[in-house]
Amino acid sequence: MDSKGMLLIISGPSGSGKGTVTAELCKKEGYALSISYTTRDKRGEEVDGVHYFFTTEEEFHHMRESDMFLEHALFRNNFYATPRKYVEEQITNGKVVVLEIDVNGALQIKEKFPDAVLIFMIPRTLKQLEERLLSRKREGKVEIEGRLNRAIEEVELVDKYAYLVINNIVEETADEIDLIVNAEFLRPSRNSHKIKEFIGDDQNDA
Ligand code: 5GP
Repeated sequence: MDSKGMLLIISGPSGSGKGTVTAELCKKEGYALSISYTTRDKRGEEVDGVHYFFTTEEEFHHMRESDMFLEHALFRNNFYATPRKYVEEQITNGKVVVLEIDVNGALQIKEKFPDAVLIFMIPRTLKQLEERLLSRKREGKVEIEGRLNRAIEEVELVDKYAYLVINNIVEETADEIDLIVNAEFLRPSRNSHKIKEFIGDDQNDA
């Protein structure tokens, strides 16, 4: 079935630079970034409504029961979810809606929306990931170890994704993803209207 927009999922270990790359990607024409809901505490310079919508567990479960989420997942003891209404509206408007979500969420989306494009992002090495986590000084040693172990678990699911992107230079990674999106828009399954146009209305009437 043709759909106007596209759901673009970007997953990868925390510290892989997903946030920076998606911000760069969403500067390009036609992209819209979905802002997730989370029950985790706000960190440092994060702004409510910009990085996440921060909610209590009670509010979160209430919204989940009201079917306000496209998917939700528990990640290291905190809940995260994608808002249904925003995503559906943007897709209808023809936007490429970017979801920066974990593997559990990505697989839920793939199940419900087989046309979604799943991209997995990693830095070149696990060592680099560790250095990035250490340099941002956001998490303690135990938390970093947990995130590295989680990264190894997540990488095992990479075959469920359509593309693997190595994030080295942010602008280049965003350009690479943009190329993937342009190619995805050329899939026949997204373009049956062009085939109909090619054949012509006369044929359809016959
Ligand atoms: P962080 O707490 O570091 O911001 O995010 C932790 C993990 O949750 C990351 O892998 C991030 O991609 C993921 N995440 C953020 N928002 C969502 C969401 O709405 N749904 C799911 N399933 N994962 C999310």
